Amino acid sequence: MLELLRYDHGIYALDSGYLRPQLAAIHLIVEQGRVVIIDTASYTSRARVVDALHVLGLTPASVDYVFLTHIHLDHAGGAGVLMQTFPDARLVVHPRGVAHMADPTKLFAAVRAVYGAAEADRLYGEPTPVPADRIIAAGEGFTLELAGRPLVCWDTPGHARHHLCLWDPRSSGLFTGDIFGLSFRELDVDGRPSILPTTTPTQFDPAAMHHSVDRILRQQPAAVYLTHFARVGEVQRLGGDLHRLIDAHIAIAERERDAGPDREARILEGLWALMDAEAERQGWQLGWEQWREVLRADIELNAQGLHHWLDHA
Ligand SMILES: [Zn+2]
Repeated sequence: MLELLRYDHGIYALDSGYLRPQLAAIHLIVEQGRVVIIDTASYTSRARVVDALHVLGLTPASVDYVFLTHIHLDHAGGAGVLMQTFPDARLVVHPRGVAHMADPTKLFAAVRAVYGAAEADRLYGEPTPVPADRIIAAGEGFTLELAGRPLVCWDTPGHARHHLCLWDPRSSGLFTGDIFGLSFRELDVDGRPSILPTTTPTQFDPAAMHHSVDRILRQQPAAVYLTHFARVGEVQRLGGDLHRLIDAHIAIAERERDAGPDREARILEGLWALMDAEAERQGWQLGWEQWREVLRADIELNAQGLHHWLDHA
């Protein structure tokens, strides 16, 4: 089933269908029939992306760029098959991600270490390599021209060191990958979104994350487009919540620093208590079991990332 959200300025969000509805969006910007695809979810999203192009009166030959906010596989796992599908497209990725997209062997080994081999195989499968001569290494300030419409790359570390945002001056919109957190639509209260930082292993860096969030707030975007999940406004309020919750995550990790073999489990318990407080603060209307189900995978990854961070910061 094709779920395509339509915004102004030729911007669309496609539900990739990755694992569940409204978990991972693939954004499209369309300018004069030319397309940039922003993040790719996993290889299973290919048919939906092709369908979305068709619905918009476009073809695989319309795609000029596939842009990756970063190379975590819920963002980049589909890049290889999409690049096979779009003959004229170039892949745009942070300089630290280029070698991993050309040869995903080490990346996939790292993903297997985080998720476990069986789960990594189930979620993603071995990624398809992208020919090196089709990859653009895009650092800070690199500007794509989409049929003359400038789109500017920002180097935004904190969630990962290979993370970019894409700034669209036309719409005053910023495509934020995972650096501006997660905002699940199931938790909205009368259209009012909640937000949660992501402290995923292995490159979480709280100081860099605060810095990147501040940079985003200084830009005063009209909206941010999150991979998890799609467009949100109220950027200043959400940024304040992110700063507060990053600090709360760190406080929980520091409290358990010397907890011994139970440390990760205790961090996880602390994060669930933090979410109980957040449910109250934000007035989430889902039942306790339901909102825990919405957040479970990310809270567990956050606990794992904080546990790792304590030993590597
Ligand atoms: Zn990520």
